[in-house]
Amino acid sequence: MFKFVSFGAMAVSLLLLAAPASAQEQTGFAPAVETSIQSVLPRMIAWRRDFHQHPELSYEEVRTARIVAAHLRRLRLEVRTGVAQTGVVGVLRGGRPGPVIALRADMDALPVTEEGDLPFRSRARGAYNGQDVGIMHACGHDTHVAILMAAAEVLAARREEIAGTIIFVFQPSEEGAPPGQLGGARRMLAENVFGDLRPEAMFGLHAWPGDSGTIIMIPGPFMAGSDRIDITVTGSQTHGAQPHAGIDPIVVSSQIINALQTIPSRQMDAVRSPVIVTIGMIQGGVRYNIIPQTVLMQGTVRYLNPQTREDLYARIRRTVTETAATSGATAEVTISENAIPTVNPPELTERARAAAARALGQGNVRGGYPVMPAEDFAYFQQAVPGVFFFYGVNAPGVSTEQAAPNHNPRFFVHEPAMETGLRAMLAIALDRVGAQP
Ligand SMILES: [Zn+2]
Ligand SMILES: [Zn+2]
Repeated sequence: MFKFVSFGAMAVSLLLLAAPASAQEQTGFAPAVETSIQSVLPRMIAWRRDFHQHPELSYEEVRTARIVAAHLRRLRLEVRTGVAQTGVVGVLRGGRPGPVIALRADMDALPVTEEGDLPFRSRARGAYNGQDVGIMHACGHDTHVAILMAAAEVLAARREEIAGTIIFVFQPSEEGAPPGQLGGARRMLAENVFGDLRPEAMFGLHAWPGDSGTIIMIPGPFMAGSDRIDITVTGSQTHGAQPHAGIDPIVVSSQIINALQTIPSRQMDAVRSPVIVTIGMIQGGVRYNIIPQTVLMQGTVRYLNPQTREDLYARIRRTVTETAATSGATAEVTISENAIPTVNPPELTERARAAAARALGQGNVRGGYPVMPAEDFAYFQQAVPGVFFFYGVNAPGVSTEQAAPNHNPRFFVHEPAMETGLRAMLAIALDRVGAQP
């Protein structure tokens, strides 16, 4: 028995819509696709555990890339390796003509020492910034890789029915490149990640402390732009008892830190241009009774509205330099781009949302609010219209507030949630390149 549902003028896919009326009624996938999903699930979990146990830092994803490439070759995809050093690209050409789309997973882990008692927990160590560090998949990228490998397997099995081409992008170094180097997304783009193909849409997902079984997808700004600021305040060194004989850069720095907080609260539109300015490092002075010559500060700026970025930068520079000038000090400020905001185009997002809702059920595709972490998927969105979404990974009964956040040594993925990520990805992909009725 097949159940057919009409979704108006939208191009509909038999693969998506022909669901059996049995136990699989809710899945939204054709029986052959459903069978492939069931078959790949245990291996998807096994891949994830293996990656989790063998995490690799940014641009060091050699083992991960080797496993990914071997898998894609087994699926008879066209495979390119070494794209942005350790990136892997697989191309699946369907048996029928149709659009090109791209699906992306990031592969790198973090310099975090894992806590907790998972049987497959990481004991890996490595060097980061000259320090010996533990290495952990504390951002869930292990699950992204395993999910996309599973999606590739399911889609490759339907190759003859696929109307179009799917590019699988396994990206290195999402978490940030060493100073002076491009991050993974930008470098893959610089190295012509898509080759001669021109994708019309691109999709990526991320593990997030939300309810398992759900995804979060919202149109418009979704994740922040992230920049680093470096400030050097120069005064004039003097005795701690004779501040009038010099210029105190420590007092000036405290004024600058406070003045910077007026940018989000007084200077920018709090609704249209939410901003965070954080000074995370301050360094100055060597002795309690010496007023030093200089103070160094480092911080991060987060913002959601790309249109107000230049205005924000100008306000940061003006606030820092003119606050310093009131005391006769000077201040230099450097703003370095880390990532631009991830912004989901409304129409593309609505279509992806509808496809995901057919596979997961309306109630399991959730809206929400933008968040201030950043994601370099944003650079792919500059080249290709793209949608980025979260899939919830909390253990049952654990709320978002209770869950360990991403990058925490106890960040935890409830593995059954990965199936939801896989189904969402497949539904969104098949919506565009599924067999036409
Ligand atoms: Zn991360
Ligand atoms: Zn991440």
